[in-house]
Parts: sequence; C-alpha cells; structure tokens
Amino acid sequence: MPGFISLKGVCKAYGSFQALDNVDLDVAEGEVVCIIGPSGSGKSTLVRCINLLERYQQGEISIAGVKVAPDRDHLAKVRANVGMVFQSFNLFPHLTVKRNVMLAPMRVRKLKAAEAETRALTLLRRVGIADQAEKYPEQLSGGQQQRVAIARALAMEPRALLFDEPTSSLDPEMVGEVLDVMRNLAKAHVTMIVVTHEMGFARQVADRVIMMDGGRIIEEGTPKEIFDRPREQRTRDFLQAVLTH
Ligand code: ADP
Repeated sequence: MPGFISLKGVCKAYGSFQALDNVDLDVAEGEVVCIIGPSGSGKSTLVRCINLLERYQQGEISIAGVKVAPDRDHLAKVRANVGMVFQSFNLFPHLTVKRNVMLAPMRVRKLKAAEAETRALTLLRRVGIADQAEKYPEQLSGGQQQRVAIARALAMEPRALLFDEPTSSLDPEMVGEVLDVMRNLAKAHVTMIVVTHEMGFARQVADRVIMMDGGRIIEEGTPKEIFDRPREQRTRDFLQAVLTH
C-alpha cells in the first residue's frame, strides 16, 4: 500500500546534473523519517519536490492517495496539507510573531482574526514562546525564530511537516530548544520528514532513517540498523566523517 506521502521513480535534473535519480519513498501517516547524507546528495531537493517548490521531470508523487502535479490547483492543496520549515526561518520581518502565525490561516483558511489569534497563541505556547507573541522576528534569537516558524507551519493544521535542515543556521546553544519542539511533535505522531545533520536526534526520534548519496536512496532502516550496522560502505564513511567531526 502506498504511504501517506509516496514517491515513485522521481527524477530531477538541473541541466545535465541529476539531483534526484529514481527515488522511491513511502512515508506512513504518523511516521518520522530522517534523511541523512553528504552535502549535495539531493536531500533538500527531495523534500522541495514533495512540497512542489521544485519541479521534477519524471516519476510520481502522491499525498494522501492523490497524485500531485506542479500546477496551480495542486500547489495550494499540497501547501495546505504539507507544511515546511526551512533552514532560514523566512518569517515576515514587518509582522509580529503572533501575526506571522495568524497570517496563513486567515488568508488561506479564511479564519476570523479572533479565531486565528487564539490558534496562534495556543501554538506559540506549544513551542514555548507565548511570551514573545507581540515582538518582531528580529527581536528574537534564532532558536526562538525557528520555533515561530514551526508554529506558523502548524497553524495550517498540515497533515505532514517537512523540515529542511531546521537547525543548521542556529548557534549551537539554540539547537537543543528547536530539537525539543520537534521531539514533542514526533511524540504526538505528527508525520514528519526531516533533513538533518543532527545524528543524535535522528537516532533518538526517527522511526526510519534514509541515507542518500548521489541523488539516490542508497540505504534505509531503523536508526539502530543505520547507525549501528550500516550495510553500505558509503554510509559507514559518511557516519564516520560526521560523528568524528
Ligand atoms: P543536499 O540537500 O543533500 O545538500 P541538494 O538537494 O541541495 O543537496 O542539492 C543536490 C545537488 O543539486 C547539489 O549538487 C546542488 O549543487 C544541485 N542543485 C541544487 N539546487 C540547484 C539549482 N537551483 N540549480 C542547479 N543545481 C542545483
């Protein structure tokens, strides 16, 4: 049975460079999948294709059993179903934290302001920054901004969340607070695909770890399988490089 998010034979090239090479992936509802692999292996391209931020040339992607194509109609549906959190937080600088979280539900879901505000405050509490609601993004630390970005993604009540290296641009002391929020989402069985360099997080939180290299999924398994008994030499080399770094 295809997963809630399902990719079949997805290929994506930039010019003559093959960024994704025949990728198959099924993610079940409630599953947490972490994607690891060297820089340039196609991890970011893979999640961006799911959210239709990139056009792929071959293959199929379906979400909740519905094939999605990069056209206008599908774009709105996919974005409403699948939230995304980026490495750079991409908050609107001219809006308060609360307004950042209220915006999409009001614009897209047509929620009334009072309802959107209640939802925003609930979510800001959930990510531990209700006291920052009236501030502007630049007044917050990177870790706090990323937590706002997660609250903003959750405000659309997505059926899945995609994270593209959500802690990579953070100062080391702020990584933990963002990973804690993500850990709580995982415990609440939010469907998540997480591109990450945080091996400790992947080991602890992932139901499944995907190892990519050269635009392909070269190995996948439980965290124990990937981290303790990797089958592929390239996985071993990669883990050795990141874990001894
Ligand atoms: P990763 O997330 O694993 O670091 P990416 O998915 O970002 O890898 O990129 C995969 C490859 O595709 C890289 O070699 C990168 O240089 C290339 N690439 C990514 N985006 C573009 C683009 N817009 N134009 C050309 N090449 C790109």
